[in-house]
Amino acid sequence: MNCPKCSELMDAVTENGITVDRCRGCGGIWFDLFEAEDIIETVDVSTVDTGSKAKGIIMDHIRDIKCPKCNIAMQTASDREDPTLKFEVCTGCHGYFLDAGELKDMSNVTAVESGLETLIHKAKMFGEAFKSMHYKQD
Ligand SMILES: [Zn+2]
Ligand SMILES: [Zn+2]
Repeated sequence: MNCPKCSELMDAVTENGITVDRCRGCGGIWFDLFEAEDIIETVDVSTVDTGSKAKGIIMDHIRDIKCPKCNIAMQTASDREDPTLKFEVCTGCHGYFLDAGELKDMSNVTAVESGLETLIHKAKMFGEAFKSMHYKQD
């Protein structure tokens, strides 16, 4: 699979039985539905989110991308608790793309703020964001 943002090849990365695709070029990560939630609950995200955050911040400005699986335009969504964290979701397959550093941000900030329970809650919010988008589409 090729990166929806920079078109470089993506490598399958497996941690704790969960496989995601990480871009060789920009370090962005592709998740299938609910994979980020599983990863945050069970894996040290720094082993998955190894890309350059500086690069991720630049790539974050690219929002007009197509789903690498469905080839339809992806939608921009933001985290409800941290609206500055923006990511792209596919309304077809519900896959989503995080730029380098965003998975770490999501877990770091929350872990510092209020511990693991909120962390898991936050991961579930991602799921909610997809569901509500799905309803809007219908
Ligand atoms: Zn890329
Ligand atoms: Zn898709």
